[in-house]
Amino acid sequence: MHFPGMPVALARMVEMLGTLPGIGPKTAMRLALNLLERPAEDLKQMAAALAELQDKVTFCERCGCFAEQGHCQICDNVRRDTKLICVVEQPVDVLIMERGQGFAGKYHALHGRLSPVDGIGPDKLWLSSLDKRVVPGVELILATSATVDGEATAHFLARRYQASGAKISRIARGVPEGGELEYLDEHTLHRALAQRVIWEQAESLR
Ligand code: ZN
Repeated sequence: MHFPGMPVALARMVEMLGTLPGIGPKTAMRLALNLLERPAEDLKQMAAALAELQDKVTFCERCGCFAEQGHCQICDNVRRDTKLICVVEQPVDVLIMERGQGFAGKYHALHGRLSPVDGIGPDKLWLSSLDKRVVPGVELILATSATVDGEATAHFLARRYQASGAKISRIARGVPEGGELEYLDEHTLHRALAQRVIWEQAESLR
């Protein structure tokens, strides 16, 4: 959204804000003007938070979740059950699962889900570190979303690890059709997790 005489710095900010998901040109303009009206201290803190976001937040090299060093706190926690691995699509899904604190195992974030339409194949998912963790005696809980792509991803993982000796299960249908984990309350999510079914049984129920 360009206006003649608009300061370059303001136009630049509007442009940057407009690249965020769900932010159109009008909203970007409103946000930029709001920033301008705030006390200078607010803006300094925001700039510092942005710099910190870039510097300090990374992803765990083992499980793909949010981390501040090489490994995340969940992987480093010795009281958690390494024999239970809950596979989710995005690191943010782990935060949602953890909100209710009902799960005592570990996680793996795929950083996406298979989507032929968007050209997302297995090569785009974080699988190599998961391959090393799926060993006999482990239960792999597939907690991808109840969307078409989420289901396809669960099928793909079940096939990929079929011969690994790991037990494979799928979270229960407490997750509604088309359901993204982020829209679920933690009780529904924990019920879906607690009532998970072994993969072969899950398939025969369909
Ligand atoms: Zn981790």
